[in-house]
Amino acid sequence: MNSTYEVIIGLEVHVELKTQSKLFCSCSTEFGAEPNTHTCPVCLGMPGVLPVLNEAAVACAVKAALALNCTVHPFSKFDRKQYFYPDLPKAYQISQYDEPLAEHGSVPIVIDGAVAKTVAVRRIHMEEDAGKLNHLGQRLGDAKGSLVDLNRAGVPLVEIVSEPDMRSADEARLYLTELRNVLSYLDISDLRMEEGSMRCDANVSLRPLDYHGSLEDLPRVEIKNVNSIRNVYRGIEYEIARQAEKMGRGERIVKETRGFDDQNGRTYSQRSKEEANDYRYFPEPDLPPLVLTASYIEEAAQSLPPSPMAIRQELAEAGVTANDAEVIVADRAALEYWRSATAVFADKRQVTNWMLSDVSRLLNAYGDTFWTARVGPQALADLLALIERGTLSGRMAKEVLDRMYETGGRAEDIVQSMGVSQITDKAAIQAVVQQVVAGNPHVVQDYLSGKDKALGFLVGQVMKQTKGQAKPDMVNAILKDVMADYAKA
Ligand SMILES: [Zn+2]
Repeated sequence: MNSTYEVIIGLEVHVELKTQSKLFCSCSTEFGAEPNTHTCPVCLGMPGVLPVLNEAAVACAVKAALALNCTVHPFSKFDRKQYFYPDLPKAYQISQYDEPLAEHGSVPIVIDGAVAKTVAVRRIHMEEDAGKLNHLGQRLGDAKGSLVDLNRAGVPLVEIVSEPDMRSADEARLYLTELRNVLSYLDISDLRMEEGSMRCDANVSLRPLDYHGSLEDLPRVEIKNVNSIRNVYRGIEYEIARQAEKMGRGERIVKETRGFDDQNGRTYSQRSKEEANDYRYFPEPDLPPLVLTASYIEEAAQSLPPSPMAIRQELAEAGVTANDAEVIVADRAALEYWRSATAVFADKRQVTNWMLSDVSRLLNAYGDTFWTARVGPQALADLLALIERGTLSGRMAKEVLDRMYETGGRAEDIVQSMGVSQITDKAAIQAVVQQVVAGNPHVVQDYLSGKDKALGFLVGQVMKQTKGQAKPDMVNAILKDVMADYAKA
């Protein structure tokens, strides 16, 4: 159906910066407080008050820009973006228009651990957030009224605008994932899409293959404020199919803003899109331009942590598969845990396997993260050492890990209290094997006459008598030895 169109996607991402106070006043930015308790005359838009720029927010924004490979401009300025909406007490938002903080960046799209494509970042600018409307009803249409909470008004944001470089919903998903990865290592935002500290608007248009004009002139549909990367993907997929079908019928695509309903996976029309000049931007008269010295920018660049690509490299060198590395890179807590555990236990693949299977299973079950894991990296390393020494089989170790997680106890103590340690004493196993061999002469005869399957039965008998605690490879070897002697006798 899409074969006669090319999909054109650009993303605008708003990221709330994790500062103590708001962008232009000293009110707290804490999430989840009683409505309207974190407000003052500045963020309420009272007349006669003056905004003062928060330096910590500038530092966060500069870091984000540099980590996204942007050029940070030594001179940028603030502008008033004017629109009327009840969540905006001043009736304008302080933003940056024609001279943004930074431009010309890039984000890699990573597939199987390698850069498959690079998406250009057009610009990054700073702005203040608006308040939040809470509608009294199921839907805005039949709400009895709306309450406004201005705690969020004035919270610092950066807006990261990509070029329209993505060609599928999957590329958009990978772009957002990597953008979030990059920002997560800077520790400048909570990046929680479901809480709104990272929000994405997706611009989607279809270019007929015989259209050679500017991409900007194509009718563009903007899907607003989608609350997860998965829903951005779903919204774009729906929008591609909707537009293709309309165009197939010879209908025109209307430039508009659409919402996304995650219940039925569809986008729905909200309003026709304002043109930029509807906002009547003009320079903010109450704030001086933002001037950054070369040494300030240079220092910020020097302080950047390793990029996700560098971390992938580190993991690949340790023998971690590309798939597992993606899981670790996307979770800073997992990376710290992995680094601590591999510092004290040499088999890095083993650490990775246990982290991403059994430890992750327990984190989910207990609602924990790798930061709050009740079995820490050292405790996991202690458990893995018991497997390596042969004290525990992999299966037993899973049980011990469950108990460690439940009780917070040490691996060795739990092994003792459960009495589960593996039997690796050769003489002890030999004694059981001899019993089993003596008790099953027909099966032994079958094995000696070439029926290999008979060995499995005998191993099973030994494991049964030792309550599964004999070390299986030792049981195997000893059984073969004993039966070889039996054949000679
Ligand atoms: Zn305030």
